Amino acid sequence: MLHDQTFLRTPGPTPIPQRVTHAMNQPMIGHRSKSFAQLFKDTSTRLKPIFGTDQPVYVLTSSGTGALETAVDNVTSKGDKVIVVVAGAFGDRFASICEKHELSTVRLDVPWGESVNQDLLTATLREHQDATAVLVTYNETSTGVLQPIDEIAELVQTHTNALTVVDGVSCIGGVPAYMDRWDIDILVTGSQKAMMLPAGLAFVGVSKRAWERIQANGSSSFYFDLQQYDKQYENGMTPYTPAVSLIQGLQEVCAMLEEETLPEVYKRHEVMKNMTRAGIRALGLPLLTSDEDASPTVTSVKGAEDLDVDAFRNHVRDRFGLSLAGGQKQLKGQIFRIGHMGYCSPVDIITTLSMIEMGLVECGINIELGAGVKAAQEVLINDVPSTSK
Ligand SMILES: *Cc1c(COP(=O)(O)O)cnc(C)c1O
Repeated sequence: MLHDQTFLRTPGPTPIPQRVTHAMNQPMIGHRSKSFAQLFKDTSTRLKPIFGTDQPVYVLTSSGTGALETAVDNVTSKGDKVIVVVAGAFGDRFASICEKHELSTVRLDVPWGESVNQDLLTATLREHQDATAVLVTYNETSTGVLQPIDEIAELVQTHTNALTVVDGVSCIGGVPAYMDRWDIDILVTGSQKAMMLPAGLAFVGVSKRAWERIQANGSSSFYFDLQQYDKQYENGMTPYTPAVSLIQGLQEVCAMLEEETLPEVYKRHEVMKNMTRAGIRALGLPLLTSDEDASPTVTSVKGAEDLDVDAFRNHVRDRFGLSLAGGQKQLKGQIFRIGHMGYCSPVDIITTLSMIEMGLVECGINIELGAGVKAAQEVLINDVPSTSK
């Protein structure tokens, strides 16, 4: 095995394109310099279409969780009631942040592997019309479910005056997002998932309605006070020293997404989802989620009865350098997860499936070599319009 050839198919971190690595290797510049202000204004503007907003998208130097906490801290005050859709480990984290901030937290528990039942959501919204915010995970990374966030935001608007606060960490940049059109008040993501960067940046889109709340509310945090970020935004700066190299990389990411065009980026993720699911199905392994709920960025696979999923993951890592993710919390030992977001192409899915096949055989599972690859190839050939590269 070539020890530097690895296949990072986890749902974060994700591979970094060479072009982005080069961009991050530029000479350091001061974060109060004119060239930084230019870079920052440029990248901030180019983030807007990815969020589907005309409003500012703020850049924080933190992991994704910092942006989740920023959202909670800025739009709520101690004692406020919030509803959190908990459909997996990240919904659970969102709720825990609210509890830590001493909010009256209503957890709407959804079976792990499913999207939220809209009748149940409606009933919960009606019962708690005094909620100040509804928090939802757009793409539940721990299960591989993409929530119908547009429909959820509409229900929130119809039944309450609450803000819709969305964790888009493992999908923004890989799936459509239209903050303004869908009435999403806060949308956050991190750099190390579909944004093709190392961990270290988080992005926070804020609606006009959310700004009214933030101004009235104030922040109890020093570092995550959005009003401080907004004060510096027009100057092309951040209140504290940002991860300049990552922002240089972000500029290249924006260029790559623009070259491919966002509709093609989203289509590529759909194709990778369909290929992965067809391949896994052809091998006879059960998928955790339905086709309707399935995420374009991560696929969860239940182990066959005689397969120890964690031993299998260790095997393909040692044998081929293939990194897959395991199950989290209640799904620990039950599933493995294949990340297919960001710098990942349909051809990468073919190689990933071929490694999975060989790994299964070597772990004693009776599958037909090539069956998954063939099913995925057929999806690719039939799905991709001839105009696409
Ligand atoms: C990765 C992830 C996060 C943030 O995790 P960090 O480790 O703090 O970057 C939050 N929500 C979801 C849905 C994620 O996938």
